[in-house]
Amino acid sequence: MTKGVIFDIKEFSLNDGPGIRTTVFFKGCPLRCIWCHNPEGLSPKRELFITHNGCTHCGLCKQPCDHEDCRGLGRCIHICPKGLVKAVGKLYSAEELAADIKREEDLFRSTGGGVTLSGGEVMMQPDFAVELITALKPIHVLIETCGYAKQEDFIRVASLCDTVYFDVKLADREEHKKYTGVYNDLILENLEWLKKSGINFKIRTPLIPGITDTDENLAGIARIADGAPVELLPYNRMAGAKYSGVGKKFTDIIKSDVSRIKSTEGLPENFTLR
Ligand code: SF4
Ligand code: SF4
Repeated sequence: MTKGVIFDIKEFSLNDGPGIRTTVFFKGCPLRCIWCHNPEGLSPKRELFITHNGCTHCGLCKQPCDHEDCRGLGRCIHICPKGLVKAVGKLYSAEELAADIKREEDLFRSTGGGVTLSGGEVMMQPDFAVELITALKPIHVLIETCGYAKQEDFIRVASLCDTVYFDVKLADREEHKKYTGVYNDLILENLEWLKKSGINFKIRTPLIPGITDTDENLAGIARIADGAPVELLPYNRMAGAKYSGVGKKFTDIIKSDVSRIKSTEGLPENFTLR
């Protein structure tokens, strides 16, 4: 039985698909988008999250500790008098996670909701995703994916889902590499498979000011979509505090707080704005 690493579970969500949903955030992502709001979801491993503001440097958390759940983290996550040291990432078996989620099955049914698998990137843990989705049946399952996965993994996970929200952030190959760390070839190959699969899906593009919300990129996304639905997602500039919590540096090169795109006027009719 595979164990999955999950970094958050959000219940009663109204923004992650139809109806009332439980959203499960898989830990680990193969991309490194410069605008990422979930730096604690990038590493596939359980890791420390330290809030530096308020630390008195007493050193208590650095002393040797034999708590089982502190092993491998290099600090004690229980001893800080100010509660500044936490771990991100919890291991679950598919059966136990599905059993927890299924407590809300009646609510999902009565609201047309279900479960959304998000991240990080679901496809980074394909075996666990397959086991979890299978254990959740017949609940409606939607995945949010960056599309960057081996095609065989993409197909076996996506084929089990009721709906796929598929990110296409940048149409240009070199721009994609520059801002997300990877080329978009694999993503576009998986999208082509998805278009032909008959699975309900939509493309999603975050509106990052000056990067993804340019006329050129939106025209490129329209060409890639080829009439498939595209949802544009507003962007909110984030503070870098979450980055320092997991020991990462936030590179703030985004030029504005909000996108210039305020409506879909002038965009193709398959485009919507959330
Ligand atoms: S795909 Fe999503 S989770 Fe992964 S780096 Fe980009 S914004 Fe972050
Ligand atoms: S125990 Fe808390 S206050 Fe003390 S050094 Fe660690 S994080 Fe800082």
